[in-house]
Amino acid sequence: MKVYKFGGASVKDAEGIRNLATIVTEESDNLVIVVSAFGKTTNALEKVLKAWLSGEDKYNALLDGVYIGHLSVVMDLFGQGTEVKGKIDVSFALLRDYLLTSLKGEYDFEYDQVVSYGEIWSTIIVAEYLKKNFQYVEWCDIRENLLTDDRYRDANVLWSESTKRIQSIFNFRKERIYVTQGFIGGTSVGHTTTLGREGSDYTAAILANMLDAECVVVWKDVPGILNADPKWFPDARKLDEISYKEAVEMSFSGAKVIHPKTIKPLHNKNIPLYVQSFLNPEENGTVIKFDATLRKIMPVFIRKEDQILISILPKDFSFVMGDNLSRIFHTFITHGIKVNLVEASAVSIDVCVDDERAKIDILINDLKTEFAAVYNDKIEMLTVRHYTPEAIELVTRGREILLEQRTRSTVRFVVREDPSVAARHLP
Ligand code: ASP
Ligand code: MG
Repeated sequence: MKVYKFGGASVKDAEGIRNLATIVTEESDNLVIVVSAFGKTTNALEKVLKAWLSGEDKYNALLDGVYIGHLSVVMDLFGQGTEVKGKIDVSFALLRDYLLTSLKGEYDFEYDQVVSYGEIWSTIIVAEYLKKNFQYVEWCDIRENLLTDDRYRDANVLWSESTKRIQSIFNFRKERIYVTQGFIGGTSVGHTTTLGREGSDYTAAILANMLDAECVVVWKDVPGILNADPKWFPDARKLDEISYKEAVEMSFSGAKVIHPKTIKPLHNKNIPLYVQSFLNPEENGTVIKFDATLRKIMPVFIRKEDQILISILPKDFSFVMGDNLSRIFHTFITHGIKVNLVEASAVSIDVCVDDERAKIDILINDLKTEFAAVYNDKIEMLTVRHYTPEAIELVTRGREILLEQRTRSTVRFVVREDPSVAARHLP
């Protein structure tokens, strides 16, 4: 069996779902199809949540907008007065009811209860449409089978119990196609959780691991994984195959191709991942696999924007590398701040992180009795893998470099944001 994953962009309208069905027609193997919320639904639901939590009535109107969007897809695919409309209506009613009656709890908890509906609606519609076109299709509620802890918005999968459930539910005894939700899971007491934004890729990898899939195919609106973001380098080129390690390094550095957690479950079972274009399904995309080589090694450019560079110095001028180091990193972990780059000297440490100001202010406050901390904001991190002198020149020309880090395969520059730097052409 194979796992297919369709992201929001591939199912943003009725046309997208028809296209999905066409792609499925070409597949003779058994399939688990993991689907994200339609288009920008997750963002829209985040707005509903914010309005609701702050007691604004406009959450109703915002939710109406989301409903109308889904309804128009249903009308387009199934016509008037169908059972499918009934199912969607019932599911929206459940959410409305929740918003009316629930005592507003903690943000992260409520986020998962509310925002997760996007995936429920998209999968109901996709599954019903596939049922019209194929035999042996079943919709599966992943919340009851992919169990997680209760770290809301960044839940950790409980692997052994989930594996048992996933294997028993996706058994292909009768069905040939299962449709299920990406991004979401559930706790053992039945609360919904989410795995982090853009987490559907990760779901696909988890299911592939648990079911020993032959491969995962992620259907995207790009021809594959490119060696740069085309918004930055318009003549970015497709990478035919890359290793798991390359993929992890790229996504860690900020490449938005694949969710960073996706690779480990695949690597552990040696399952290849194909990134394919849903616009040109017959064209080869990129394969991420164990023994891949970047055949002709070309530089890979990655840009991570909205960074902040924090310099931390022990106030008593003690060395940073001893106990101070564990104290500092422990504080980062406790506040859920992911570290993107570290550079240490004898008495100071520089750390580059995503600019989530509220969290960072709390972190700095927490450290302030023992450490002085200063930060530079409006920063970005530029990474070049397999660099050449031309490649370095290309990314650094005209930029103010605050920090540079170089290994044999990778060079990283922390530079000031500079809106005047236009798109550049690859050498
Ligand atoms: N719908 C979720 C999001 O937009 C999950 C995903 O797309 O992978 O973050
Ligand atoms: Mg999405």
